[in-house]
Amino acid sequence: CAESPEELKLKKTLGRIKHKIVVMSGKGGVGKSTVATNIAVALSQAGKRVGLLDVDVHGPSVPRLLSLEGQQPHIGSEVIEPISWSRNLWVMSLGFMLPSKEDAVIWRGPVKMGLIKQFVQDVAWGDLDYLIVDCPPGTGDEPLSTLQTLGQDAHAVVVTTPQGVAVDDVRRSVSFVRQLGNPLVGIVENMSGFACPDCGAVHNIFNSGGGEELAKEMGTKFLGRIPIDPEVARSGDEGFPLVKVDHDSATAQAMNAVIKHM
Ligand code: ADP
Repeated sequence: CAESPEELKLKKTLGRIKHKIVVMSGKGGVGKSTVATNIAVALSQAGKRVGLLDVDVHGPSVPRLLSLEGQQPHIGSEVIEPISWSRNLWVMSLGFMLPSKEDAVIWRGPVKMGLIKQFVQDVAWGDLDYLIVDCPPGTGDEPLSTLQTLGQDAHAVVVTTPQGVAVDDVRRSVSFVRQLGNPLVGIVENMSGFACPDCGAVHNIFNSGGGEELAKEMGTKFLGRIPIDPEVARSGDEGFPLVKVDHDSATAQAMNAVIKHM
């Protein structure tokens, strides 16, 4: 049967994007938004044309991570203009549309699903090398809607922490992606050891290596370890991602190493 005008619009928008990467996690608080933002900035610093789409309805944090809080995208009759962060990085976040941070939690499921679709379809992304999507955590309706909207060629990156409890969540995320038939780029282990600001060494406070073992077990790539680094939290709070402000640090290089797999 014939495609609706919306479906055609979505197809056209997606057709201009070479690589779609959905950054997922089993649960919140593992650093998914931080990793997604640093990946997007690192790719843009490597000269790629990048879109960063934040559809994390539970707490859209990309505006804060990129000092874009309070920005209002221009909404035309047909398209929404993404906010330009640099010459080749454009950003759209549900956070730009919220009068207050609390509003996201009261939206009903179907409203959230519609918004996710609209944010892909109606945003004037133009020609992109990469669209990095900060996906809501878990394996519920919202990540489902995100992957279904982006289509079968959207690749997933799963972010985890090294602890055993997080590992079960990752198993669920990996099998969720596989059930949908989307390809996996692999697993990133964030908050893996502590990068000591004094001696520069990484100390393993919790067990590390859970992500790597799991990647092996699940037959996917291990994309690398990013330590707990006070500079990551500080740069995030100040709205300047680490790969931008301290490009040469070991932690920024660990983040940069992830994009080599994309
Ligand atoms: P999520 O998107 O999974 O909910 P966030 O990216 O918002 O998680 O990160 C949660 C908190 O952890 C933030 O305060 C962030 O600055 C901090 N954080 C994330 N990764 C690291 C890291 N590698 N080192 C230090 N702090 C981190």
